[in-house]
Amino acid sequence: MQNLPFTSYRIDGSRIACPLCGSDATEPLSDWDRRFKRLSHVKCAECALIRHEFMPSEAELARYYASTYRADYQRAHDGPSERHVRKRHAEAGPRLARLSRHLAPGAALVDFGCGSGEFIEDARAAGFDARGFEPGADYARYARDRRALAVENCGWQDYSVPAPVDAVTTFHVFEHLIAPLDAIRRVQGWMKEDGLFYIEVPDMNNALHKGFGCLHMAHTLGFSRYTLELLGAMAGMEVVEVFPEYDIGMILRRGSPRPLGAIKADARDEMARWTRRDVHRGFWQYTARKLKRR
Ligand SMILES: [Zn+2]
Repeated sequence: MQNLPFTSYRIDGSRIACPLCGSDATEPLSDWDRRFKRLSHVKCAECALIRHEFMPSEAELARYYASTYRADYQRAHDGPSERHVRKRHAEAGPRLARLSRHLAPGAALVDFGCGSGEFIEDARAAGFDARGFEPGADYARYARDRRALAVENCGWQDYSVPAPVDAVTTFHVFEHLIAPLDAIRRVQGWMKEDGLFYIEVPDMNNALHKGFGCLHMAHTLGFSRYTLELLGAMAGMEVVEVFPEYDIGMILRRGSPRPLGAIKADARDEMARWTRRDVHRGFWQYTARKLKRR
């Protein structure tokens, strides 16, 4: 029943300031999500970060994840499917290769929101001292008990490291958060002074071309090339390397970020093409293509 199209989610949420730059000014982006359910997204007028117009609270999100999320989007049962594990290993290889170029052999890593642990497993096989944490109980249990990995079942607020690490990685996690600045500051607390933060998220500037696939309840924030740089800059981090593929990846470290105003201007330019009218046009084209394929 909860997945019927053209209905609303049973989450009230509330209007919040931009969780990245703090501005209250927004532009409407869309009224729908990929299930054709009513879900308003807005774009920050100051930094172009995309977010829900009515942001769920941590408690509402927790209820949503517990009741609806997996049936809605992952179709998972107890722990990951074989297909999921294969796919995550395939992604882990290139990510590890990119990061390895910046690390000494045996470096210590933490994977933030590690899911079923494939990146950690492959990093260990490559000689790194890798560990992580995952808030989803089934995936965390699978990683720890079935794969014998150092994975804790907790959120970022509760995780701590035995000793500062050389790098923190996080793949497709920050678009699910409500407080990204608190999270990145927490990450910095786990890292050595010259530690690296390797983050990858969906690039909304690419994803919106494909229609509405990227707009859904679990994606509370929508980043792109420059809002990802801004996230780092707000925490005093500079860009080490950018991986501008279909998704957007970036390695950051403490240093001298570009001025915030310049990054915000680039972000606004980058996302200027995405108005509510254009996104809605994409929505109907996407729907028509889907119906034709049936
Ligand atoms: Zn903003």
